[in-house]
Amino acid sequence: MPSTSSKLSERASELRNLLNKACHAYYVLDSPLMEDTVYDRLYRELLDIEGKDSSLITADSPSQRLGGSPSKGFESVTHRIPLLSLDNAFTFQELKAWHSRVCKLLNQKINNRDFTMVSELKIDGNALALSYTDGLLVRAATRGDGTQGEDITANVRTISSIPLCLHLKDPPPWLEVRGEAFIPNDIFSVINAERKKHGKDLFANPRNACAGTLRQLDSQVVASRKLDFFAYTMHLPANWQEKENNHQAPSEQSQSLKWLKKAGFKVNPNTELMQDLDEVKTFFNNWENKRKNLAYETDGVVVKINELSLQSITGTTQKAPRWAIALKYPAEEVPSKLIKLNYQIGRTGAVTPVAEFDPVSLAGTSISRATLHNANRLTSLDLHSGDTIVVRKAGEIIPEVVRVVKELRPAKSHRLKLPKTCPECHSILERVMNEATTRCVNTTCPAILKGTLRHWVSKGATDVDGLGNKLIEQLVEKGLVKSIANLYQLDINLLASLERMGEKSAKNLINALNKSKHQPWHRQLYGLGIQHIGEANAKTLAQTFTSVSKLATTACQSPELIKPIYGIGEEIAQSLHQWFSNPNNQKLLSDLKSVGFTLEANAEENAQNKDTLNTNQLPLKNMNFVLTGTLPTMKRNEAKDLIEKAGGKVVASVSTTTAYVVAGENAGSKFDKAQALGIRIIYEKDLQNLLSS
Ligand code: NAD
Repeated sequence: MPSTSSKLSERASELRNLLNKACHAYYVLDSPLMEDTVYDRLYRELLDIEGKDSSLITADSPSQRLGGSPSKGFESVTHRIPLLSLDNAFTFQELKAWHSRVCKLLNQKINNRDFTMVSELKIDGNALALSYTDGLLVRAATRGDGTQGEDITANVRTISSIPLCLHLKDPPPWLEVRGEAFIPNDIFSVINAERKKHGKDLFANPRNACAGTLRQLDSQVVASRKLDFFAYTMHLPANWQEKENNHQAPSEQSQSLKWLKKAGFKVNPNTELMQDLDEVKTFFNNWENKRKNLAYETDGVVVKINELSLQSITGTTQKAPRWAIALKYPAEEVPSKLIKLNYQIGRTGAVTPVAEFDPVSLAGTSISRATLHNANRLTSLDLHSGDTIVVRKAGEIIPEVVRVVKELRPAKSHRLKLPKTCPECHSILERVMNEATTRCVNTTCPAILKGTLRHWVSKGATDVDGLGNKLIEQLVEKGLVKSIANLYQLDINLLASLERMGEKSAKNLINALNKSKHQPWHRQLYGLGIQHIGEANAKTLAQTFTSVSKLATTACQSPELIKPIYGIGEEIAQSLHQWFSNPNNQKLLSDLKSVGFTLEANAEENAQNKDTLNTNQLPLKNMNFVLTGTLPTMKRNEAKDLIEKAGGKVVASVSTTTAYVVAGENAGSKFDKAQALGIRIIYEKDLQNLLSS
């Protein structure tokens, strides 16, 4: 077994290789290999390992380098003052730790721990260094590796929010302005739509589009992409002061922002002076959702020491200033490590793979499981044991595995596949051709029974209070309940003796079960859990077929009569046919009747149905019929009358809009035409069934 330290070293090397590859793709090719949030988490993992064992820090570690090296297409320039990155905090605790570090440092150096802060939105674009000489823009450079960047002056000149000449009567001899170039979201959409039209690769996000644009060799293209820029900091000669107003150079970050604005720069207006961390927290929380309505992307809040003199006392590390930190908004997609794949059997026997992974925090909750829905999803993800996966919350609610980080796959991993047998009852699983679902078809499988019971007692069905998952598990596992009907035969003393039950809860449960017998017929039908019969379909069917016997007879004998009912189609008709033809289900219905269910609409429901049917739910509404031949007992006019009363129409000729052709003895050419067009042909008894439903 490998020792902990060799495991750490292996992981560090794995992470280093992957992150270096990602940096090249990101900074040089402008085509990221992974989401930023995934990069951030993996980078943080590497930092943690390096923090635990500094001997694992290598010169090629991304922790030792900043950004990317300048590309060959542009001249390389050395920044007058290094243009650094920012350290990140992902939680308030990390922000607090940064604050404490700064307090400690200031206390050590100047015996003062008082400072104010400025909170600024962190614009998700690309850093630019702008150099002005005597008020004129002379050079613009990318950040590059922080010391040397690329000279992209010609391109930057096309950004209209960057002044080519400072709006100051008395400009400083030199000025270095730092800020963020970005592409507004609406322009980004247009750029990508254009690229799509011309079959070009799409940019992953506005930040990459911006980076790619800034490094365009043709300034015309840059101009057409309408980049924008927010200035956020500046450097002036020491002791410089404005002659005209005799103003001192700004001594605080908040003053610098005002100064930049006055000098003609666009400064982000969403910036505030903060007295303490509570104010920072409020600012951060306030912007968490509001920022999504901004015209540009933001990914956090930059918190800076406001006093510039204190900024220079804290200084910088090799990569970032100590006087600032980026508090990042929670990631919507994060990586995690797969622990194992479980298989759940639902009430229809469908096997659902469920990934179990190291807990991650997403949209405010900790999650450690996500369903993969079906075998197709498992195959398309190409999930292997030990994989690093990317997880998100779909619609901020349902955990979902987005993809696998294949580059981090362990050497000895194996491909994960659905099992061949049911993990609960061990019978062979079946997969229907062309269906994504693999099923356990053993009707006595305990997992299916548990799912069936859970569905029967659920809110939309019979709504039995006090019969939760744990109790259902006990009842099935102890063999006390083998079908829905058994629930109604449970003895109060036996229930009271079960785990976490007592006399009172047993009594309440018996009452709730008795009450459930009076739920409306459509809820009972929904509760049976027939495939494809959701609440809406159950309601439609229950209005047309007012009792289980009417529905069962039609479903078994002439399912084709169910298909044309509004909203019900072939698949549902088939599913009903299968379900009602199954002897086990027929027994269940008879057992339910013997424990007190009528399985039909009561007087009140019938009255309601009538009302609805009288208005817009007539059973043959919108259906065209064609009559041909002599019907055994009904006269033509009689049949026509009945069809029309039920909302249908009798038309003279067969066409694709015909729902049914009703055929009798000596049926003529209409019969042949119906066959040729594939129109359903029914006989008098079928018509009577339809009319009485
Ligand atoms: P960063 O983007 O996390 O933050 C630093 C930058 O924030 C500064 O350089 C500055 O340009 C910008 N910024 C925006 N608003 C600011 C403000 N108001 N004040 C000061 N600065 C402000 O760091 P980075 O070094 O530019 O890039 C590292 C990040 O790039 C990583 O965290 C990661 O998200 C991303 N990255 C992604 C991949 C990938 O494969 N997806 C690879 C490498 C890096």
